[in-house]
Amino acid sequence: MISWCKNCLNASTRPRIEFDHRGWCNACQWMEEKKSLNWAKRESELHELLEKHRGKGDFDCIVTVSGGKDGSYVAHTLKSRYGINALCLTVRPPMPLELGDKNLISFINSGFEHIHVSVNQESMRILDRIGFLDFGQGYYGWLIAIHTAVLRIANSFGINLVFYSEDGEIEYGGSTERKNIATYGIEYMKKAYLNSTYDHVIKESGLSKQELYWFEFDPSLYKEMSGLDVTHFSYYEAWDPYRNYLVAKEFCGLEEYQDGVVGTFTNFAQNDQELASLHYYLMYLKFGFGRATQDAGIEIRRGAMTREQAINLVNIYDNQPPVQGFERYAKYYGISLREFLGVLDKFANKDLFEKVDGYWKPRFVVT
Ligand SMILES: [Zn+2]
Repeated sequence: MISWCKNCLNASTRPRIEFDHRGWCNACQWMEEKKSLNWAKRESELHELLEKHRGKGDFDCIVTVSGGKDGSYVAHTLKSRYGINALCLTVRPPMPLELGDKNLISFINSGFEHIHVSVNQESMRILDRIGFLDFGQGYYGWLIAIHTAVLRIANSFGINLVFYSEDGEIEYGGSTERKNIATYGIEYMKKAYLNSTYDHVIKESGLSKQELYWFEFDPSLYKEMSGLDVTHFSYYEAWDPYRNYLVAKEFCGLEEYQDGVVGTFTNFAQNDQELASLHYYLMYLKFGFGRATQDAGIEIRRGAMTREQAINLVNIYDNQPPVQGFERYAKYYGISLREFLGVLDKFANKDLFEKVDGYWKPRFVVT
């Protein structure tokens, strides 16, 4: 029904994941590989890429940021270590949180050029709603825009290099097809980051071309941008979310959440939007692993936690539903609370969960 990585706690239900003969997932295999990888070669690839784009326009590249640890780390490193003049870019999320806004302002004030893209909120709400109702995705419209809106801005400013933080597929478990390939295009964005449901959601929305301005992979636009390099910074140096957090805290004013975060034991990641909690809870109901499992995996792989400690934390946190947000989520999607709960029921994996006293409880025990 479900099994877990023998090293971390990645579940066999995770999309695109693979295990080796020891029962280690590909995130853990990658962690091993990173120790002996020829990073000097990768850094020279980075140099080459940066020199190709340096000084070609008003900005050398775009760095996508949210005010959180990872984008802040990438922007800071490119500027301080490589002297890169980046245009930092944030696509304003739905249901933003105060701390996220505060962190973004602190980041900007630490010395960066920044553009805030506010997409059509009604279009985003409609796309988020279809993603939620049809696929159990909490913020699908926003997920689209963090790719499509970035391409629009790159084109408008004549910038041909875009950095995202890490490739989650490779770092946290999933497809390894691009492990040794630095850049990627629209097809990979649609498949790996938008779960191949992009065309369905756009069609279903019935939105006009104008209303979809920030949400379209406009083919003519992409043709013009054939010289565009889209890449992850995690390709060029050993990715370490905790180091990123420390650097962002020291140099970019990052603050953690002071209270506990629902669904996990960490307080320094993904504090910019309320829908993140729902996103992770839906992941838990669909696949049997939640945010705490993911966070624990990162801690195990960096050697800061044992698998036994991780199991204890996962048992405490993964099954916490973000109930305090349910009313607001339903209101955002424009449905009743009853309908909202019905969608959770629809996507809960009945092989993995059973409903007890109104809540979905796991039938499995993490081992
Ligand atoms: Zn693993």
